[in-house]
Amino acid sequence: MIMRMPTFGFRSGLRALLLLVAALGCALPVRAEWLRREEAIMGTRVYVELWADDASAGNSAIDAVMASMRYIDELMSHYKPESQLSRINAHAAEGPVVVDPELFDVIRQSIHYSEITQGAFDITYASVGYLYDYRNRIRPTEAEIQAKLPGVNYRFLELDPARHSVRFARPGMRIDLGGIAKGYAVDRGIKILEEHGVAHAIVTAGGDSRIIGDRFGRPWVVGIRNPDDAHSVVTRIPLVDSAISTSGDYERYFDEDGVRYHHIIDPHTGHSASKVRSATILAPTAIQTDGLSKTAFVLGPEKALQILEKIPGVDAVFVTPDGRVLYSKGLTGGG
Ligand code: ADP
Ligand code: MG
Repeated sequence: MIMRMPTFGFRSGLRALLLLVAALGCALPVRAEWLRREEAIMGTRVYVELWADDASAGNSAIDAVMASMRYIDELMSHYKPESQLSRINAHAAEGPVVVDPELFDVIRQSIHYSEITQGAFDITYASVGYLYDYRNRIRPTEAEIQAKLPGVNYRFLELDPARHSVRFARPGMRIDLGGIAKGYAVDRGIKILEEHGVAHAIVTAGGDSRIIGDRFGRPWVVGIRNPDDAHSVVTRIPLVDSAISTSGDYERYFDEDGVRYHHIIDPHTGHSASKVRSATILAPTAIQTDGLSKTAFVLGPEKALQILEKIPGVDAVFVTPDGRVLYSKGLTGGG
């Protein structure tokens, strides 16, 4: 066809060329492109961006990730009274509550993070944590905290791996997976994308993200925000094949008499932790970065780095109350 084109007049030749292009376009089996989608799930913003060799296959992959996020939310949300997590909180003090394997797995992994962080990460923080209501500026009195604090201890969680059951060994206990379920969900999302043949992608749920591959041959760049200004960043981190989570005191909070009451609770005191303004963790998986970002926040740079620098592949960035940005050795080239 192209060979015969010079014999056409200019206009008909152009039309033929356009037709040819259109025909080729139709004949092409796939259309490679970057796909992006954002949805509100798990009380937060879930975002998926990926490079798809075939846009329709890429969209199916994103559908599957979103469905998985919704399933995890159904199981693990403490806002939903009918969720399995809510059933645990309502009944696990009376006897073992049998749950789905995914929920059991997240609780089992949560205990691992408590064990390696001297309890700085502890899903039973919720035994006290539920007394705070940031939106309505409600916080417990010291007497109320002291009354509930005995229920904060991951050692009082009794798990039966054979039955996937959970029991509370003390009355008045509660658990909350807000500090780990999103990391778990992001890892599941990445696994689903990989099973769909995706090699370049980011999956984000709230403060937790994981990246596979690069972006146009260059790293993805994730900014760490200024705690006092959502529109400015204190530093940017280039990432390839890595997860990143940030915990900050600016996500859910209220200020009263110069004190910030926010959603990251020191399990040993029942108070909002205040050693840093934000703590960011980089590691291979999002369940690691999510679990460890609370640890880093609660313990502060000095104590946290003693723990974190022993775990292979883990790095940290802190923003201190006086606005300094501190990095773990792996990020400063110091080893
Ligand atoms: P995001 O929800 O944006 O991912 P984080 O990863 O910082 O933010 O998680 C904060 C959540 O972690 C809190 O809202 C609460 O549900 C939970 N949490 C707070 N303190 C602790 C703690 N010491 N150990 C475990 N989970 C915690
Ligand atoms: Mg998180």
